[in-house]
Amino acid sequence: MPDIPNTPDRPTTLRHLVAGEWVDGEGAEAYSTDPAHPDRAVAVYRTAGKTLLDQAVTAAQAAQPDWSAQGLIQRGLVLRRAAALLADRAEEIALLMTREEGKTLPESRAEVGASVETLYYHASRARAADGATFPSAHPEEIIRTLRRPLGTVAAITPWNFPLQIPAWKIAPALLWGNAVIWKPASDTVAVAAAFARVLADAGVPAGVLNLLLAPGSVGAALVAREEIAGVTFTGSVTVGRSIQAAAVPRGAKVQMELGGHNAAIVLPDADPAAAAADLVAGAMGSTGQKCTGTRRIIAVAEAYDALVPELKSRIEALVVGDGLADGVGIGPLVSNKARQEVESAVEQALSEGAQVLARADAGPASGPASGPASGSASDGSCYYPPTLLAGHPGLTICHEEVFGPVTTLVRAADLDEAIRIANGTRFGLTAAVFTCDERAVRRCVEELDAGLVKANAPTTGSELHAPFGGLRDSSFPAPREQNGDSGAEFFTWSKTAYLRTGTPARSRS
Ligand code: NAD
Repeated sequence: MPDIPNTPDRPTTLRHLVAGEWVDGEGAEAYSTDPAHPDRAVAVYRTAGKTLLDQAVTAAQAAQPDWSAQGLIQRGLVLRRAAALLADRAEEIALLMTREEGKTLPESRAEVGASVETLYYHASRARAADGATFPSAHPEEIIRTLRRPLGTVAAITPWNFPLQIPAWKIAPALLWGNAVIWKPASDTVAVAAAFARVLADAGVPAGVLNLLLAPGSVGAALVAREEIAGVTFTGSVTVGRSIQAAAVPRGAKVQMELGGHNAAIVLPDADPAAAAADLVAGAMGSTGQKCTGTRRIIAVAEAYDALVPELKSRIEALVVGDGLADGVGIGPLVSNKARQEVESAVEQALSEGAQVLARADAGPASGPASGPASGSASDGSCYYPPTLLAGHPGLTICHEEVFGPVTTLVRAADLDEAIRIANGTRFGLTAAVFTCDERAVRRCVEELDAGLVKANAPTTGSELHAPFGGLRDSSFPAPREQNGDSGAEFFTWSKTAYLRTGTPARSRS
């Protein structure tokens, strides 16, 4: 059993939500920590194991038919109540998110606000047309489509957007009449429990939403269950592919949002100051822990020299520290392990010939301006200084996703070469181009292998009513999107009904 860190504030004790009851787990004791103070536990719990998993599956299977029978409008009203409750608890949950995940308080507040909007958006879909009608060759026949829920679905979520990503998945799953078994990431269990409580308090019936706080092995056992008709997953490519291999052969639907290696191309006609502001926001926001984060900046011809001082001054001005403190723009990474991974990726890049062009002062663990960051792996720190590297497309860091505040500036001779470099990874999540040349924008939209392409805006950020999804290794071939109407597509089976008026039996006299 691990030693729970000695914490000034008593850590919250968490339970699992199964069949409408908050119950203790049967597994090992576990805890989440505050990455700004890794010696402090935020929440403690006993992990869920096979017994709770079995109970959750049984409860979901039993509760789903009645939930489906309530109809769209009733289910939409429950989501509306959940939106209002989440708005009431917004500040409390934002504070919890900053303590447990590490992002700054303004970032947490924005995430809670976006999650409230997500619930309202899906609630509003309850009153939209939910099928189509078609003409028939038979004069008395109507052909119409209708949607039926999948049944019981699994939602497996990462820590980097501990509320927003679950809301993107769970709200449409519930709206369309499914029961959900949710396994959130172990780093952000307290935020997950707070969201599950909002949904339960809003009136999601017992068994319709089940929350299991557990390691990845329980996620693997969950997706292997015959009863799970759909899996919605956001996380790493490796885990995503293992879920795909377990669930697809038995006919389960699978929706995946995986990693990215997003490129932003800057053409010489773009204002370097305006572009640099968006590039730094895209690369460093949420401490670089966004799947859509700008991992490569591809500067075409003279754009390179114009960008360097603009990027440098902005990165060096970033204030790194505890996300709860005033004036802090960049919080810690989610864990010391995450920090170690970023540090070794940068060290490898330097050994392969990259150079540090700019580095912020990382406050609690700052390093020398030109070498690897200090605040070594062994001191437990989760801080890493935002870093701009100068490099070339052959570097490992220009192919492998590094989930932290690091981006690499690469030079290209012209737009052709820039597009080739941008497309030169196995990923295809987002991309951006900075230019006033409309033809160049059109080329980028058509030729960049990314599910989302932006002009003159960061690679990060998306609207919840527009589809969002990656190409190549960033997703699963089909269906590959979430948000917008994709929720209805993924969480239901569509049926087509041919309806003729019946002929009544002749009365028997
Ligand atoms: P991860 O894949 O390690 O974990 C994600 C979830 O899967 C966690 O809940 C984890 O416990 C669970 N899990 C682990 N092993 C499992 C298994 N064998 N079977 C089933 N579930 C298992 O990812 P992470 O470190 O939490 O998140 C970071 C990754 O997520 C990055 O690669 C990032 O790019 C990606 N991400 C993608 C998007 C997107 O929309 N494309 C959004 C956010 C994060």
